[in-house]
Amino acid sequence: MSHTVEILSVGTELLLGNIANTDAQMLSQGLSALGLNVYWHTVVGDNPRRAREAVELARKRADIIITTGGLGPTCDDLTKNVLAEAFGRKLVFHEESAQRIRAVFERTGRTMTDNNLLQAMLPEGCTVLANDWGTAPGCAFESDGVHVIMLPGPPSECRPMFEYRAKPYLQALSEGVIASHTLKLFGIGESAVEARLRDEMNAMTNPTLAPYAKEGECELRVTAKAATEEEAQRLLQPTVEEVKGIFGHKVYGVDVSSLEQVMKDLLVEKGLTIGTAESCTGGLMAKRITDLPGASRVFRGGIVSYATEIKETVLGVPHDMLEEYGAVSAPVAKAMAEGARRVLACDIALSSTGVAGPDKDERGNEVGTMFVAIATAEGTYVRPLTLGARPVRARLRTQTAHHAFDLARRYLAGLPFED
Ligand code: ATP
Ligand code: MG
Repeated sequence: MSHTVEILSVGTELLLGNIANTDAQMLSQGLSALGLNVYWHTVVGDNPRRAREAVELARKRADIIITTGGLGPTCDDLTKNVLAEAFGRKLVFHEESAQRIRAVFERTGRTMTDNNLLQAMLPEGCTVLANDWGTAPGCAFESDGVHVIMLPGPPSECRPMFEYRAKPYLQALSEGVIASHTLKLFGIGESAVEARLRDEMNAMTNPTLAPYAKEGECELRVTAKAATEEEAQRLLQPTVEEVKGIFGHKVYGVDVSSLEQVMKDLLVEKGLTIGTAESCTGGLMAKRITDLPGASRVFRGGIVSYATEIKETVLGVPHDMLEEYGAVSAPVAKAMAEGARRVLACDIALSSTGVAGPDKDERGNEVGTMFVAIATAEGTYVRPLTLGARPVRARLRTQTAHHAFDLARRYLAGLPFED
């Protein structure tokens, strides 16, 4: 049986626009990966009457309702009361949850006020979803063919609660196992991927294949359903291989988190170090590398050489070269990378220079004209980029950093820089 899901996010702050509904986004991604159809996102404020109306509507059209928020101890936290009432369940005291809440307060040295124990009041007969990431437990129950799952609002709790508590519950609902792999592609857009695979995708039922666009990258998720995990994997493998065959080196990994992660893992594997010389990306590359745990094993440092003078004085880009070609040019990108490799004493150096906008530079280079370079023991390679179709500074920087990391992962994996 295929399930239809409604995500019901409770919180006035969402309606006021104080925060974005990132919980619903995260849940939708995770639920589609499970092969569940999310048909509705609903947001309702902390108001019992309107929340009840939203629940009544949701139960008519969906057979899985997942709520976020409103499980905490304050009086605006009304989710459990509303759901329990709608489905005719009493809220009862759950001693184990109360003990966990007391333990959290003891561990963190805070005094617990009595209202905190309200969090241990849960719908009678529910499956308690223990919260190891905060205080309010979640819960799940089934009533009249509708499954209700309640998760806490703070994203730092909602995400692990979904991953480790709700997911196993949902997997148990479907007969058999749902497994998926995500292929990550760089250097090709979602629409090109979709156009290439349209016929295959339409013809497929198990496994299914779905592309997702993601900040200048593209993901392809292959999902299979089978009686056992092994069988699901057996169904997935040929499709994964086929997609790899079609897109070649544009596939930078399967079930990996990011280009920089792949790059870092390769650096660790080969015992090499990296450094950066950044102009238009303004430190974004260094930031993204140092976001990775264990970055210190491979990252020597980064130089944000924003002013032309710094390119010359710190990185040693020749004055004449800057005069002749301008700071946004292939020779300068090359000299920056080579300079960084020397100054930072790293095995590989990446550089970026370009026009992030909003206006053309003084030499008439259009917004989105970028150069990224990689300097290694074997020489230097420059990739010119024209990214200006939608000139938004943040997007241009992200894309430029992606390209630099792509050069590095290609070099480290022994692949051609372009294909
Ligand atoms: P708490 O125990 O912290 O009160 P709760 O389950 O009661 O958790 P809420 O009180 O509704 O959750 O929300 C707590 C905070 O979590 C909000 O202030 C907001 O920062 C964040 N939050 C709530 N809902 C969402 C959502 N749908 N998406 C992103 N963040 C959210
Ligand atoms: Mg709350």
